[in-house]
Amino acid sequence: MRNRYLIANWKMNLPPEGMRPYLDAVGRAEMNDVEIVVAPPFPYLRDVTRAPDRIFAGAQNCADQKSGAFTGEVSAWMLQELGVRYALVGHSERRALYGETDALLQRKLTAALEANLTPVLCVGEDLRVREAGHVARHLAEQIRAVTTPALESAREVVIAYEPVWAIGTGRSASGAMVAETVADIRDALARFWPVRYRDDAPILYGGSVTPDNVTDLQTNGGMDGYLVGGASLSSEKFLAIFDAMKVS
Ligand code: PEP
Repeated sequence: MRNRYLIANWKMNLPPEGMRPYLDAVGRAEMNDVEIVVAPPFPYLRDVTRAPDRIFAGAQNCADQKSGAFTGEVSAWMLQELGVRYALVGHSERRALYGETDALLQRKLTAALEANLTPVLCVGEDLRVREAGHVARHLAEQIRAVTTPALESAREVVIAYEPVWAIGTGRSASGAMVAETVADIRDALARFWPVRYRDDAPILYGGSVTPDNVTDLQTNGGMDGYLVGGASLSSEKFLAIFDAMKVS
């Protein structure tokens, strides 16, 4: 039985309703087997670590080094010490806007694992790759490129499948499309990572998830959870997505 997750990626935003009311509302959600992770901008991580028990803190990024002369960076070990449990690695905005390369992401994944954070590795194709029919090959390459010996002894790595063309565009993948891609990701995990990841790694979907499209993704996509950007800024929408996961 794989773990299930619902992750809020606030990006460089705060919820308009205010952080405290948001965390209180989400903290009152009825318990189920879905782990709720909130990933705020760095200065707000401590507040999330102090939120109601059932909410875990996630960082949107971490450095590839432990400490030293790396101005502006925050290390995975510092995050761990703060009480952060998860770290996004390779979000498409980091890859595209900040030039994060596969080699850098391999070091970040290693750092997160060595610091005992659970990494959420984001992979996904752009429209050009999808239209050319190269999705499976592209995702396999993203997974192969970050392979690290640290995977051998890791507790868990979460994969977030986030097609670039669906992030922040209002255009979500369908459940059927996602189910096919999840199978490609599991194949790649078996080929390039210790084989247990094929079955054990939770695979989340991200890309314009809303309360309106989550049921199709949940019913036909077979996802282990969601990484939600825009809709995660409203506790009401975030909880509606959480509720849709509960009934499946
Ligand atoms: C994201 O930021 O990872 C994301 C999926 O954003 P959105 O839900 O807004 O598409």
